[in-house]
Amino acid sequence: MTLLEPVMPIVEGDSATPMMAQYFDIKRAHPDCLLFYRMGDFYEMFFDDAVAAAKALDIALTKRGRHEGRDIPMCGVPVATAESYLARLIKLGFRVAVAEQMEDPAEAKRRGPKSLVRRDVVRVVTPGTLTEDSLLEPRRNNYLAALTEAEGQLGLAWLDISTGEFRTQPVGADGLNLALARLEPGELLLPERLFARPDLRGAVKDFAGLPLPDSRFDSENGRKRLAAYYKVQALDGFGDFTRAEVAAAGALLDYLALTQKGRLPRLAPPMRLAAGAAMEIDPATARNLELFRTLSGERKGSLIATIDKTVTAAGARLLASRLALPLTDVSQIRARLDMVGYFFAESDLRGVIRELLGETPDIERALSRLSLFRGSPRDLANVRDALSASQQLRAILESSRAALSAELTLCGENLGQHDTLIETLSRALAPDLPVIAREGGFIAAGYSPALDEQRSLRDESRRLVAGLQSRYQTATGIASLKIRHNNVLGFYIEVPPGQAAKMPQAPFIHRQTLASAVRYTTTELADLESRIARAAETALGLELELFAELTAQVLANSDPITRAARALAELDVASALADLAVSSRYVRPAIDESTNFIVSGGRHPVVESSLAANNDSPFVANDCALSAEDGNVEEGVAPRIWLLTGPNMAGKSTFLRQNALIAILAQIGSFVPAQEAKIGVVDRLFSRVGAADDLARGRSTFMVEMLETAAILNQAGPRALVILDEIGRGTATFDGLSIAWAVVEHLHGVNRCRALFATHYHELTALSATLPALGLYTMRVKEWRGQVVFLHEVAKGAADRSYGIHVAELAGLPPPVIARAGQVLESLERGRKAQALASLADDLPLFSNPAKEEAPNPALEMLDSVNPDALSPREALELLYKLKATLAASSKH
Ligand code: ATP
Repeated sequence: MTLLEPVMPIVEGDSATPMMAQYFDIKRAHPDCLLFYRMGDFYEMFFDDAVAAAKALDIALTKRGRHEGRDIPMCGVPVATAESYLARLIKLGFRVAVAEQMEDPAEAKRRGPKSLVRRDVVRVVTPGTLTEDSLLEPRRNNYLAALTEAEGQLGLAWLDISTGEFRTQPVGADGLNLALARLEPGELLLPERLFARPDLRGAVKDFAGLPLPDSRFDSENGRKRLAAYYKVQALDGFGDFTRAEVAAAGALLDYLALTQKGRLPRLAPPMRLAAGAAMEIDPATARNLELFRTLSGERKGSLIATIDKTVTAAGARLLASRLALPLTDVSQIRARLDMVGYFFAESDLRGVIRELLGETPDIERALSRLSLFRGSPRDLANVRDALSASQQLRAILESSRAALSAELTLCGENLGQHDTLIETLSRALAPDLPVIAREGGFIAAGYSPALDEQRSLRDESRRLVAGLQSRYQTATGIASLKIRHNNVLGFYIEVPPGQAAKMPQAPFIHRQTLASAVRYTTTELADLESRIARAAETALGLELELFAELTAQVLANSDPITRAARALAELDVASALADLAVSSRYVRPAIDESTNFIVSGGRHPVVESSLAANNDSPFVANDCALSAEDGNVEEGVAPRIWLLTGPNMAGKSTFLRQNALIAILAQIGSFVPAQEAKIGVVDRLFSRVGAADDLARGRSTFMVEMLETAAILNQAGPRALVILDEIGRGTATFDGLSIAWAVVEHLHGVNRCRALFATHYHELTALSATLPALGLYTMRVKEWRGQVVFLHEVAKGAADRSYGIHVAELAGLPPPVIARAGQVLESLERGRKAQALASLADDLPLFSNPAKEEAPNPALEMLDSVNPDALSPREALELLYKLKATLAASSKH
């Protein structure tokens, strides 16, 4: 996020006009924001704000008056289209303070002819506090997060003001990166003292806005603020929060009060994310597995894009937040799977429900705008329509033939009964609704007798005006006399210039002569006009009162509405996952506490769907069986580590990733692309896939690779699942091979976790002789008339070669290069010292090799027996010749 440069102080002086003085007062209170200063139908910006905004928005920079002898730069945006300008400014990293006129200009005039209209900032718009649909992505949450430290512990809290979700989490400095990458907050609040901490810099730098004073993160104040907001004595009922979590959550409330100018949105009670409740997926892994975005940054081609069949925005947000936080609790996962399973089996009902959900508006965001008094009549209609859909869905579920799971029953209950509110809103709202309440005309006829009376007064007066026209036509004998209306004159009588001479003096009063017409008024017409204006004003006043009343009624029901909104989203996610499972042939995984990972006929969800979309040959399903239990592969126990060799392009990476994705899908409560899957809960998923430079941070490809590998070896515990693709490829062959070798040993003997390890180093297969829980697998290929055919099948065993040159040929390298590479490869392989590698295996640190003692090397023995000090130069030279000959003789055997 780019930050707003501190805005230059605005020059002040004695010469400031009252309006400028008011402007300076407001600006002084919001120095880090652009100030949108309301003047009539425009938000105006002045001085440096105007210069910055005009540049950012590509709008005209003009001048308005002079201050201290210099022109005042100015630019403005129309109020009616301000949202789109706001959106652009926020995206560019600006914060915007919106100063509105707090009274009618008429009111100000009553105080004295020179009185200024009162203005005040009603809201500070920041990236983390957006509520407008036009500023938000419908299918993504937009989080405002706060991080602080108390008692030496870090605490993170986050909320989505547009949906009311509110959560906290204790977090360590090392886990911060992971937590923030998962949230991708629109804005992160930090106290000054953490802002400067070098150990946190890397994790926070992409999200942090301006640092806030430390005092805003006081945990005691936070506790009081939270207790007052939720009207409770103590927070214990919500969870067992650390002081840092309370301080962070309190700072969020404080910041909302500051930016929303005292109006607080409706927020669910804070929920604590306990350590270990979610499968931890570090940012590199999430990126490598392309969960939310492909490596090139697009949503298309990511896991979420492939599995998201939700039909509501709230459902899409819930699915995304589940994907960011796969569960580790077996019973919770099963409860989600039960819901999916229900809709999987009940296909007719699934269709009906999805159709109904598809027409259901985004009630969470409507409710949040209403709670900030920023709602519109359309938000009220959205609440009404979503609640009536909720009731229908509830009835559908209750009439279901099949038994509902506990979770689904609860969901049905939460959909709730909202008859009274629906009925009121249905009676109150007109069929066509304006975008903002101030436009009026949104209350249905028949709802309020007082409003109806004013409207008929207004309409009656309009009819009277129309009647007046024909009366005046008769009276004057001018058939072309018309009564018209414009914004400057209001109602007026108009005749063509040629007829003006016929106009009698009374009751007509001349107002204007134009080339095309002469205009008049009468006292009667003026009276009628003011009656119409008064009636319209009173009607609008009444409508706005009714709007406030209806909003209050909705807010009084915000708890049941929030529950219904949540239930709607849950139904959407469950039925969408069921739909996916049916259309893409997924099965329900069996989840337990074991450390098994047994998948038969597993597929890669994204590769499979893209092959299908391109009408390519179908995806080849593959099995995988891992177990972290002790055991010997020779005795038929599933291996702890799979060492997968095979040529380039054979499908190794796809296989590795598909298994990681299957684990994730299972633990978010989704069915999985396989024929059968039994998964012992994974608590952390690590992947080291492919190589990418991180040059922005000054790290080479190989360095990134090693950093990621280090993180895995240091952190993976027995419940982890590790996916390692091509370790050690970014350096010299022997360095790389040695590192890969040592990594496999460490995973096998120290981490003791489930792991899939793909490599081109066939030499590593020698490890199976010494590592009992290592299984050797390979990608099958067929050679046919000198060509390689990839079968994409995983089979037991080891590959004998890489076929890299074949792949290079497929890629179109020039034939002479291919031919030459073939020659070089042949000579390299001939000269390769298998001996060296065999002795590597002998030197295993973890396992001794008795074969070594049985076959001593005669050259070494000879060397061992000599005393260098007792040798003459000639003897030394002879010894060297002898040693060489012995060595040559022994390597022939
Ligand atoms: P390299 O070693 O060069 O990275 P690799 O062995 O990791 O290659 P992948 O990148 O996994 O190979 O797969 C190459 C291509 O083969 C994929 O893009 C995909 O289109 C296809 N493919 C992989 N696995 C399968 C499969 N099981 N069924 C069908 N096609 C597959």
